[in-house]
Amino acid sequence: MRILSHLFENNKRWAASIHEKDPTFFERLSQQQNPEYLWIGCSDSRVPANQIVGLLPGDIFVHRNVANLVVYDDLNCQSVLQYGVEALKVRHIIVCGHYGCGGVQAALSPTSLGRLDNWLRYIKDVHSLHRGYLNALQDPVEIHNALCELNIIEQARNVCQNKIVEDAWAREQAIDVHAWIYSIQDGILRDLGFTVTSRSEVQPLYTQAIESFIKKPPHR
Ligand SMILES: [Zn+2]
Repeated sequence: MRILSHLFENNKRWAASIHEKDPTFFERLSQQQNPEYLWIGCSDSRVPANQIVGLLPGDIFVHRNVANLVVYDDLNCQSVLQYGVEALKVRHIIVCGHYGCGGVQAALSPTSLGRLDNWLRYIKDVHSLHRGYLNALQDPVEIHNALCELNIIEQARNVCQNKIVEDAWAREQAIDVHAWIYSIQDGILRDLGFTVTSRSEVQPLYTQAIESFIKKPPHR
């Protein structure tokens, strides 16, 4: 008996159902990929990129890690970003986090998680940057939600300030960067109001997003 045979059976059924709807689907996709979107999301099993936006294989180039971080010296994320922008020429880069994020929750906890602490450090940095606002909040759920949202905006800014994206904008390659949050409680995506289409927009739109966030948090 094949190990994990139910997954192979699921796969056969899935491939057959796609083929039934569109007999040349896999043949076409095997020639090339031409995705319009690059998705940078959390590894959480409850936030699968393609399913939650109703897109098929071939539609989204995906990078996922714990808490959807965009880190300058992360070879993995930077390689995906470079390939997505320079080779695939994606039109949109979406940084999508989610409420109830285990990575964000762990960063708020004083308990050590070993090697993962090094990764969570980047979320703690986001917390430090916005500590004036976060420390004024009382409710732990509200603090968690706010840090999830602020982390996404900060990571989207990291995409915008990345050399790969800056160079693309400098040669007038059209790329829009988006900051979205997903609710695992109701399956709904929300835009966090930080959508950037050029280098000159980054700082003013970031300031605007943070100011309006502090005045009227989107999770309330
Ligand atoms: Zn998460």
